[in-house]
Amino acid sequence: MVDIPESHPRYESLLTRHRIEDGVEHGITSQQGLIAQGRGEAFDYLLGEQTIPSADEAARVAAAELLLADHPVLSVNGNVAALVPSEIVELAEATTAEIEVNLFNRTDERIERISTHLREHGADTIKGLTADERIPGLDHERAKVDGDGIYDADVVLVPLEDGDRAEALAEMGKTELVIDLNPLSRSAETATVPIIDNIIRAVPNMTRHARELRQLPEEDVQSVIDAFDREKALASAEEAIRSGE
Ligand code: ATP
Ligand code: MG
Repeated sequence: MVDIPESHPRYESLLTRHRIEDGVEHGITSQQGLIAQGRGEAFDYLLGEQTIPSADEAARVAAAELLLADHPVLSVNGNVAALVPSEIVELAEATTAEIEVNLFNRTDERIERISTHLREHGADTIKGLTADERIPGLDHERAKVDGDGIYDADVVLVPLEDGDRAEALAEMGKTELVIDLNPLSRSAETATVPIIDNIIRAVPNMTRHARELRQLPEEDVQSVIDAFDREKALASAEEAIRSGE
């Protein structure tokens, strides 16, 4: 790990970058993942590297969706595993969700590596290697999922998901929670709940909301979901990025 002084004005951003580099070095993150990170950083810079109020609300709604789901699954790719491994495990625990490794550039070896990495960060059961079902409408490799995982889920968290796959999952009728810094990305556009925030901030924020919401009666959690306006959330993120405020 490179040593970055905590006083550096862009400490968090540089730390994030090094985590992705490390991920690539350890065969967890793909080279494509580096490019995705760069795109994300540009949007985060424009957002002021902070969680805007509409993103905080979306994170709360997403936590509510996970809590009320019959079968919630958190999808993990190489960037997610490199950036927030223990935070994903904590979110899964707080919402009794399952974790499934699901890769755009899928290789069994990388799935194994990511599973091991997540286990080192406290996960016990990890799905993704059975790959006995297919998401309709996608080509073979991109379509693979576990029959008793994402395929069966009613609510899925897909952070930094590719637009095509996000659309195909939405077409299966799933409630889709997307974390993506680009409010114009197709993934965010197709999400039931788009969270326009850096995954580094969004995942622990969702866990915090989940721990709070799970103390409440179910009707109250449901009303958090009912009050959400996805169009408004996307519009206010775009406005924040364009105006720089
Ligand atoms: P499409 O319009 O098809 O969705 P895309 O913009 O999603 O295309 P990719 O580069 O594959 O294309 O996706 C990477 C996405 O992940 C980008 O939208 C980027 O903003 C987002 N992203 C990257 N790093 C992070 C991060 N740390 N937190 C949140 N989002 C991120
Ligand atoms: Mg996208």
